[in-house]
Amino acid sequence: MSIRKLYFAGVMAAIITVSGCTSSIVPLTGRKVTTFGVSAAELEQQAAIAYNNLLKDPQVKVVSASNSEAQRVKRIGANIQNAVTKYMVANGFEEQIKGFKWEFNLIESPEINAWCMPGGKVAVYTGILPITKDDLGLATVMGHEVAHAIAQHSAERASDMVKAQLGGAAVGVLTSGRSEQTQSVINEIYGLGAQGAFILPNSRKQELEADKMGLSFMAMAGYDPRAAVNFWQRMAQASSNSQKPPVFLSTHPTDNDRIAQINKALPEALKYYNK
Ligand SMILES: [Zn+2]
Repeated sequence: MSIRKLYFAGVMAAIITVSGCTSSIVPLTGRKVTTFGVSAAELEQQAAIAYNNLLKDPQVKVVSASNSEAQRVKRIGANIQNAVTKYMVANGFEEQIKGFKWEFNLIESPEINAWCMPGGKVAVYTGILPITKDDLGLATVMGHEVAHAIAQHSAERASDMVKAQLGGAAVGVLTSGRSEQTQSVINEIYGLGAQGAFILPNSRKQELEADKMGLSFMAMAGYDPRAAVNFWQRMAQASSNSQKPPVFLSTHPTDNDRIAQINKALPEALKYYNK
């Protein structure tokens, strides 16, 4: 299946430089990630444009900053941002958040959804608020989404797409630096737009990693990570109550295994709680 078929295309002009191989370490988990052809910095720049375009879209209703729920999203977001920034700087990961331009917006929509684009561009949909219920639930979701951005999961996924599309040709690009073929694949990825390239379903591995990191991030920000279990149980309940599974759930399958993994990660996260 082509990338075009997988995601609906956005309109986004992009200036692309083929960046060869980039290696980075995921904070907290220590996993080494090597991305090829796509750099996190480029993705962050493109995501910032896509995010702004999305907010300006007449069909997208951004809840006014004077609204108390929007303020709650911004307040919890700022708490997580500050805690994460402190952690990153203290642990030698400053470079990885250099290009971050954090933003936290609440979007009026019945959709049960939330996401974070590369570079810290967060959106929470009003439809998810009955399930997040309180600050702890919201911090669970936002901590998890921010974790995807901190772990540079989008760059990893885009890189996997480049590799899959190019196959053996990738090896040639590694040595030559760039080729027309790489260029066209990367153009396609960057051309997917906000709804495509930056809010794709993550792999199972990335989901579990974001859960783990998210628990620690919420704890660092002063939110009891044990509340995450309750949130995911409510999310699972919401799914069984509705005929159409929530968008968030389609990308975040909640099952016993997920909750078991969260419980397993809790002792580590609790070390950061009220530290
Ligand atoms: Zn996720």
